[in-house]
Amino acid sequence: MPELPEVETIRRDLLPLLRGRAFIHVWVSPEAPRLVQAVPAGRPACRTGRQAPTAADFARLLSGRRVEDISRRGKFLVFHLCGGLYLLVHLRMTGALLHRPLGAPPDRYVRAVLSLDDGSELRFSDLRKFGALWLVPDPSPVLGRLGPEPLDGGLTPSLLRELTARRRAPIKSVLLDQRALAGLGNIYVDEALFAAGLHPQRPASSLSDSEVERLHEAIGRVLTAALDDRGASFRDYVDASGRKGRHQFRVQVFRRTGEPCYVCSREIARVKVAGRSSHFCPRCQRLERGL
Ligand SMILES: [Zn+2]
Repeated sequence: MPELPEVETIRRDLLPLLRGRAFIHVWVSPEAPRLVQAVPAGRPACRTGRQAPTAADFARLLSGRRVEDISRRGKFLVFHLCGGLYLLVHLRMTGALLHRPLGAPPDRYVRAVLSLDDGSELRFSDLRKFGALWLVPDPSPVLGRLGPEPLDGGLTPSLLRELTARRRAPIKSVLLDQRALAGLGNIYVDEALFAAGLHPQRPASSLSDSEVERLHEAIGRVLTAALDDRGASFRDYVDASGRKGRHQFRVQVFRRTGEPCYVCSREIARVKVAGRSSHFCPRCQRLERGL
């Protein structure tokens, strides 16, 4: 599943290509009835979110809108459109946003095509069909309660201390919780915990101040390295040009079960935490409180 570095890579790719461009035609596949999820502007808001707008409403409201900016919040992409509307995109498991020039050959699993006024197309491809699009006047109800962004300077060691101090859940669960910290998923939580020398099952509240500082530094370092590698493509992830990232070749523990630790040569182990496979080095990552 794409996490912060993958979604941010797509954002950086798309921004110069799309800023100032307008959507002139929008097609949504009838075979993807759950793709468009928000209640479009001009309709009464539906608090349950169950009443999805029709693809026709979505296409009509999006057509003619110009892209002013593209931002990211957690794993959401947020397209700022003229007229005060926002297009939100969540890629979930296998979603991809592909920017293709005029006349490009078709892509597989395309669920929506947003044609732009320069002849190019933004294609939403999604094998598993868990991805979602929203067109809303206010992004906040869709984004919900999200924790701080780990890379924009908003996450300080003392804030991370606050986020962990009252939680007895395993540190892995807390870091996966988007309401605690936005943008991390299974890959980068495992990598950050290894880089900090912390066992994924450590109760979050048991971390010492210096362990929290190490974790803070590790999160920033791991995410920055993954961004430099344009994300990790273990299975489906591709950037806006359809190319894979490179960070899967540089991970220390993720999906390396049974392979030797690069630091101490002990076999990387796997344990389920919060229902997710967690990869760790039993020697490098401490289960007991350290300095
Ligand atoms: Zn090790």
